[in-house]
Amino acid sequence: SDIGPQKERVVTEEEWLQKWEMGNIGFHKEQGHPLLQKYLDVLLNGRSGLRIFFPLCGKAVEMKWLADMGHSVVGVEVSEQAVKEFFSEHSLPYCEEPVPEISGAKMFQSTSGNISLYCCSIYDLSSSIVGKFDGVWDRGALVAVNPCDRQRYASLMISLVEKNSSYLLVTVSYDPNKHKGPPFYVPESEVQSLFG
Ligand code: SAH
Repeated sequence: SDIGPQKERVVTEEEWLQKWEMGNIGFHKEQGHPLLQKYLDVLLNGRSGLRIFFPLCGKAVEMKWLADMGHSVVGVEVSEQAVKEFFSEHSLPYCEEPVPEISGAKMFQSTSGNISLYCCSIYDLSSSIVGKFDGVWDRGALVAVNPCDRQRYASLMISLVEKNSSYLLVTVSYDPNKHKGPPFYVPESEVQSLFG
């Protein structure tokens, strides 16, 4: 598992915003992810009314799906366009408010109150701002984080989950010499060392 070729690669926030502006968002899927359906029981573990976190959420349709099942969904995404498209594409009324603890950040919340999307960098969040979560859906998140930021990302995620939480992580397996990413190749051994 040679991750060498991708180690130094950096995608800036500006580049992510541009991807959204250009509609260069091949990562977005209109259909709910089959692995979330497959492992939903693992995520829920018999519990209801969970707080579920979507790091680097984009406009993932699974947020609506889980909210409709009675869970409370919190996401974080740098692109305000993505956040607004999420609400408009699901015809969900929302309000927006500043986040006092984070300069420049806004929180977009569905009027029904069960979906809250923070528009800022994930690295601006902490459990004192967003609380702790019972479940995490990490698809297109760890694999989208710059390789040099993985340790920081993993430590932050660990600080945002409750003791009895479930964390579903989707990675992709491919030869990192052949694509520059994202999504980046995160070998299983690295997942182990990041999350233990
Ligand atoms: N998880 C989503 C989106 C994956 S693409 C899905 O499954 O469809 C990665 C997303 O992370 C992009 O929308 C990008 O704008 C966002 N992003 C990149 N860096 C970020 C950061 N530091 N904080 C918050 N969002 C970020």
